[in-house]
Amino acid sequence: MLPTSCDVLIVGAGPTGLTLANHLGTLGIRTLVAERLPALIDYPRGVGVDDEALRSFQAVGLVDAVRRHTVPNQVMRFVDRRGRVLASIEPTAEPFGWPRRNGFIQPLVDRELALGLERFPSVTLALRHAFESVEDTGEGVRVALRPVDDAGEPTGAPVTVTARWLVGCDGGRSPVRNAVGLPFEGRSESTRWLVIDLADDPIGTPNVSFRLDDDFPYVELALPHGIRRFEFMVPDGADEAEFESDARVHALLARVLPADVRPRIIRRRVYMHHARIAPTFRSGRVLVAGDAAHLMPVWQGQGFNTGIRDATNLGWKLALASRGVADAGLLDTYTQERHAHAGAMIELSVLVGRIFVPANPLARLARNLLGPLLSRIGPVRRYIAEMRFKPMPFFADGAIVHPGAPDAKGPVGKVFVQPRVADAGGRIGRLDDAIGLRFALIGWSARFDAWLDDDSRRLLDALDAQTVVVRPSCQSLEREAPAHGLVLADVDGTFKRWFDAAPGSVVVLRPDRIVAAVCTPWQLNATLRELGRRLRIDLPTTATAAPPQSMKEAA
Ligand SMILES: Cc1cc2nc3c(=O)[nH]c(=O)nc-3n(C[C@H](O)[C@H](O)[C@H](O)COP(=O)(O)OP(=O)(O)OC[C@H]3O[C@@H](n4cnc5c(N)ncnc54)[C@H](O)[C@@H]3O)c2cc1C
Repeated sequence: MLPTSCDVLIVGAGPTGLTLANHLGTLGIRTLVAERLPALIDYPRGVGVDDEALRSFQAVGLVDAVRRHTVPNQVMRFVDRRGRVLASIEPTAEPFGWPRRNGFIQPLVDRELALGLERFPSVTLALRHAFESVEDTGEGVRVALRPVDDAGEPTGAPVTVTARWLVGCDGGRSPVRNAVGLPFEGRSESTRWLVIDLADDPIGTPNVSFRLDDDFPYVELALPHGIRRFEFMVPDGADEAEFESDARVHALLARVLPADVRPRIIRRRVYMHHARIAPTFRSGRVLVAGDAAHLMPVWQGQGFNTGIRDATNLGWKLALASRGVADAGLLDTYTQERHAHAGAMIELSVLVGRIFVPANPLARLARNLLGPLLSRIGPVRRYIAEMRFKPMPFFADGAIVHPGAPDAKGPVGKVFVQPRVADAGGRIGRLDDAIGLRFALIGWSARFDAWLDDDSRRLLDALDAQTVVVRPSCQSLEREAPAHGLVLADVDGTFKRWFDAAPGSVVVLRPDRIVAAVCTPWQLNATLRELGRRLRIDLPTTATAAPPQSMKEAA
């Protein structure tokens, strides 16, 4: 039975909607996911999943299921027509606890995300239900969903569902975004690409290569489960159907495989690349996420990952607002925090596309001359290899407390590291598994909770926050443990290094693992008061003290 009311109605069961539903399910929020198709999309799409997305799946207990369909540490090489490697992206560090680049098969991962929803009694996935219209009542939404058959034809009258929030995770054409009048800004790249997935990988090597051939650029990727993907450029004016035909597909494959190899083709499809973004991701009680909010060319493999970041940012905020802990204004921080970063990912993806297929002969000449030269300069090589060009989230504003003016070099508003920790029993694991999908106050060594006043404790209770003291692993974890918290051992010294460089010894971590604040124990109460304000949480207060000067400036 389709529920006729819920807290959050998600339109679209792609990876963004399914991830958001898993986060909301984990937090016990009544959620309905409406998908117009009879099954999840299974045509070839995303092939690269990053460490931040894996961390999000870890938060909802699905990372092991997802990783079954990945190739960890997949190297991406840019190779010229003479076979010289001009650049190689092969990061080795794992600051967030997972390999930074992983090959994957999107339909299989999407399926794991959908299966994950079966764990939650509060979440319903309704296939064959198409979004038709929304009315924003100010306090919530009234949404018309139309039951449809496998071909998308209506099978009955629309059903009205009321919800506190509607989230359009309904892809690039987003009927939800259009219904609330949010136009896409930006433009489409004029290039189209044919994507072909082969079974029984006829090549078998484990990585990805971009062939920078002026006449015949193409991409070749190894995927899990013995699948090989090729991507070939479709010339301007070429007929899409003809390009997807058997004859054309085999002719293209014959240029990259020996003539007598007849590979088994699983899927083929032509895509056009877009670079678009909505001006805001919120309109009243309606939000957009994933491809519904932004579209980017595939060259950095960030469309899927950017949608997962959106879902991870939204999940806990929608939970706080749905429970009435936070005011609806908290959802304004979603656009504040996500828009600039999604825009930066679009720009990077466009840039990589221009390097791969330069727009004109001059740009091509520059690439062909400069590429081999730059590849010989050690620092340039390492900059690319370690993926230091990848824009990392940094929030200048939002549900965070900078100690002074926003500082892009400081830790606040950035993703926190995920070190290994050990508990009192000596069991070693990842930090996030120890704290769960919730706020956490993590302090170095000392019992900072002794400094918390009643207002801070009320806020931490409302947030269901975990307090954690981290100590060198040689020290006793039992001594001076916080009253209702954890004591964990810093297994490899990562925490000590982090706190050594940080402007304080207590870090306030959000459920999405963003650093909300860093301070010393004596600054905790003022910092938490300011954080409560930024989270739009209005609790009865007993405090009269003014915030320290640096925080007044930040407000
Ligand atoms: C060839 C290719 C390669 C790619 N490679 C990568 C990569 O390596 N890494 C990466 O990160 N990204 C990659 N991407 C991008 C990635 O696939 C997308 O960004 C991602 O699928 C977007 O997910 P989403 O959930 O936001 O939207 P979608 O996956 O598009 O899901 C939207 C869902 O909404 C449903 N829907 C639409 N309208 C309605 C309606 N009216 N009512 C109900 N439901 C509706 C749709 O049926 C669909 O199921 C690639 C894309 C392509 C095409």
